[in-house]
Amino acid sequence: MSDPDKYILPVAPPDEQEVCVACGFCCDGTLFLHACLQPGERGHLPPKIEENSYAENGEEFFRLPCLYFRGKCTIYDQPRADVCGSFRCELLHAMEKGTISKTEALGMVARAHTMRQELLGEFCRMTTFTGTPNLRQVLLDLGKWRKSLAEDDPRTLEADLLMARINILETLLIKHFHPASEFQNMMVPSQNHPKI
Ligand code: SF4
Ligand code: SF4
Repeated sequence: MSDPDKYILPVAPPDEQEVCVACGFCCDGTLFLHACLQPGERGHLPPKIEENSYAENGEEFFRLPCLYFRGKCTIYDQPRADVCGSFRCELLHAMEKGTISKTEALGMVARAHTMRQELLGEFCRMTTFTGTPNLRQVLLDLGKWRKSLAEDDPRTLEADLLMARINILETLLIKHFHPASEFQNMMVPSQNHPKI
């Protein structure tokens, strides 16, 4: 029998919690499509993480967007995966070091949210996609959709412009949220999707 307290995680400082509640980028498919699990976690995870988990090359992961994310984490006060409490992005590191204030961090989150919503909306309009898109999947799907168009299709220009605008958002995310060293991995449209 597993110890249910094993995966109850330390509570983040209030300022970090406030920024994370406003953000959610590491849970909703904006930064990653997969999160790493620790050895032995599978079999003892919240049900929707368990059903979204898989093994690859001897390591274990769960897919993102997380099924517990609805605007924010809906099981924040319950046992979660280890990575849920241990992952800290560049923005939180900068806050901890005092190089940016909480207000500045919230401003960056709001700016990235606004840009992302505009771009995802544009993607849906352009491709007639009707689901709930996430940025990482849109990057993959937009590239495939662009390739499917005939070269004289006027939508190729729209697709190229949208990709250029998404790349501007990527630059913001890389600078403020994601280690630059993982940029290449983020952009590889293969099974090596970015992972927490
Ligand atoms: S990306 Fe950073 S600020 Fe946003 S929810 Fe994740 S840890 Fe918090
Ligand atoms: S359980 Fe909560 S913190 Fe963990 S990935 Fe899902 S939404 Fe994010």
